[in-house]
Amino acid sequence: LRRENKSYAEGSAAPAKAAVLGAGIMGGGVAYQSASTGTPILMKDISDGAIEAGLKESDRLMLGQVMRGRMKPEDALKTCRRIEPRLDYYGFDSADFVVEAVVENLNVKRAVLAEVEQQVGEATVLATNTSTLTVKEMQDAVQRPENLCGMHFFNPVHRMPLVEIVKGELTSDETVSRAVSYALAMKKLPIVVKDCSGFLVNRILFAYTRAFFELVNEGVDFSRIDRLMEKFGWPMGPAALNDMVGMDTCVHASKIVGDAYPDRMSDFRNAADLLLEAGRLGQKSGAGFYRYE
Ligand code: NAD
Repeated sequence: LRRENKSYAEGSAAPAKAAVLGAGIMGGGVAYQSASTGTPILMKDISDGAIEAGLKESDRLMLGQVMRGRMKPEDALKTCRRIEPRLDYYGFDSADFVVEAVVENLNVKRAVLAEVEQQVGEATVLATNTSTLTVKEMQDAVQRPENLCGMHFFNPVHRMPLVEIVKGELTSDETVSRAVSYALAMKKLPIVVKDCSGFLVNRILFAYTRAFFELVNEGVDFSRIDRLMEKFGWPMGPAALNDMVGMDTCVHASKIVGDAYPDRMSDFRNAADLLLEAGRLGQKSGAGFYRYE
């Protein structure tokens, strides 16, 4: 992969200034990762509350790094200064790379991409962080589809090394190359993948969680499966993973991927649906499969 990435990134530079749309779990994580590795970034959302939550999360991550001795306090300060929160597009004209990390809704993403394209220069890369939609579904929403690609980070962004770079049918090689360069500058391991629902990792992951839900429906204790998968060597089991990602996100995403591959991944009513209906979203609501203090 390293050799492959070197050839993709050849001749292209990391952005001098980036922007991220959405200050949620992923947008906030991308802003922190970009800023802490030296690339200044504008972080735009539509409400004060969302911006505040994004900044709070990045402060929390920084404090954690400082407390563990992994970041000097002066570097934490520099990181803070590299994140510029915004409720408008001021400053976007000088951003050469935009990561779109708004809600997983095709119409919202298409509208946001069309809007931001009007605010940036002609050469600015637009990268969608969608997990389950395709670049193809968004390409005719923009005037310059050659500048549009996917850049799929994983949650939590600061800890997960892999980033999928998605080449749509109209994405230029230069755009792919610039996305690979940005991922490398963020100290991530990019992998260039084809454009399909779930890309590479989520196609595998959804098949795995589908098998987990089948077992739970058959009456197997979810916590035993978690313990077993941990013994197998995975950092966490499928129930804990669902709790971390959030039941709302999991259910929504698995419906989209299920629709994309009806013969192989048809959706069925499972424990995540029941937990969602009961308001047990996972870590973010204090309870999911497990309880969180
Ligand atoms: P989230 O709900 O935490 O955050 C989304 C943010 O987008 C919210 O703060 C919302 O206010 C904001 N937003 C909505 N419309 C906007 C607009 N027009 N302009 C600017 N901001 C707007 O969602 P998230 O979990 O961070 O997911 C964001 C994207 O990342 C989705 O496409 C999701 O599929 C993808 N993703 C999520 C995960 C995950 O585990 N959560 C992992 C990988 C990829």
